[in-house]
Amino acid sequence: MTPVHTQPPLALTFWGVRGSIPTPTSENLGHGGNTACLSIDCGDSIFILDAGSGIRPLGRQLLTRPTLPEIHLLFTHFHWDHIQGLPFFDPLYRPDARITLYSFHTPEDLRSILAGQMVAPYFPVDFQLVANHLQFRQLQNTTTTLAGLTLQCFDLNHPQRSQGYRISNGSRSLVIATDHEHGDPAADARLSAIAQGADLLVYDAQYTPLEYEKRQGWGHSTWHDAVSVAREAGIPQLVLFHHDPAHNDAMLDAILAEAQAEFPGTLAAREGMTLQLNPA
Ligand SMILES: [Zn+2]
Ligand SMILES: [Zn+2]
Repeated sequence: MTPVHTQPPLALTFWGVRGSIPTPTSENLGHGGNTACLSIDCGDSIFILDAGSGIRPLGRQLLTRPTLPEIHLLFTHFHWDHIQGLPFFDPLYRPDARITLYSFHTPEDLRSILAGQMVAPYFPVDFQLVANHLQFRQLQNTTTTLAGLTLQCFDLNHPQRSQGYRISNGSRSLVIATDHEHGDPAADARLSAIAQGADLLVYDAQYTPLEYEKRQGWGHSTWHDAVSVAREAGIPQLVLFHHDPAHNDAMLDAILAEAQAEFPGTLAAREGMTLQLNPA
């Protein structure tokens, strides 16, 4: 007899997989050119991680639903590739939308940071005009429960700081660790401890090991580091994320083949991909 699961699967969708800057050129479209944006759809509510350019198609899709879900938008940090899609996120302009924005900053600072990119002469609509229906909340180095998911937030090793998330529905859990440079002992130990036993790891794999030799201190890692973290934490499925703008599909396929030879449970993030973690 097939077991009946009352708990829905934990499903992660990739809307933007690229680091640094959108790269919508023909040789990149297999994996996608939009910058960082992920979502976890819980039906009545949706969790969105980062507002890179991938958040635009997500916003358009949300507006096609009969009812707009409650939106929880979690930021890892505020480098441009993680916020540049926000002015083009259609639900922002719906006064009836329930949207809460979270980051490691205080609510006041978060509001002012986001206002900084929606102000003359950079954008024609002032953030203050659309922000009245938005909620702002600080999450840092903490564990909290929201809409049935448990979120654990932790610091990563990145210039000007980045925040990772372990997200669990009580049965399955996934870890998002993007914009993180491997090699800082304290940050690596923290990530490894928090990620222990998760089902899925999304990890910053911007550089090849050879490229990394010239990019130390830039705040990003390699597929090789990604495999090490997945192994140390006992995570069976690894997704290489935050692809370098210079890596076209052929290069990403070659990187993925190298990584899979070391760790068969590796995937390279692609726009439109949904990974579903069924209840244990
Ligand atoms: Zn980034
Ligand atoms: Zn960054």
